[in-house]
Amino acid sequence: MQKIDKILFRPHHLLCSQGYSGHGYNDIYVQNMNAVTEKLRTDPDAEVTLIFGNDILCQVCPHAVDQKCCETEEKVRRFDRKVVEYYGLEEKTYRYQDVIRQIHQTMTAQRMDDICGDCEWAKISACKKNIISGKYLL
Ligand code: SF4
Repeated sequence: MQKIDKILFRPHHLLCSQGYSGHGYNDIYVQNMNAVTEKLRTDPDAEVTLIFGNDILCQVCPHAVDQKCCETEEKVRRFDRKVVEYYGLEEKTYRYQDVIRQIHQTMTAQRMDDICGDCEWAKISACKKNIISGKYLL
């Protein structure tokens, strides 16, 4: 598995990284996602640096072109904006466990629907279940 050092994350990927259950756009995307989520789910001191743009997951996404999500730019920016507004997040470095704990404390199914209910992965992945149950809190 590839070694992961610095994790740059757009805000809504704080949610996706908890919901991920092995499905992705292609093999490279899944390999990258496996490496990132393995680190975040097992290292209690793992850090993420939030960035309001393309990140470590977007860099291998087949839909990303010229630093934009070519097909879903408006949608992913809306997901990011809602996560930032609900949780008061900034472009800075956080301990992953601290920020997912903060999210877990007030996350509800309704809020998940409001943030990203129209995501194509919502029905396939375990996002709601994992986040609301705090599955990856260490
Ligand atoms: S529903 Fe989509 S955007 Fe929301 S956490 Fe899951 S994968 Fe991420």
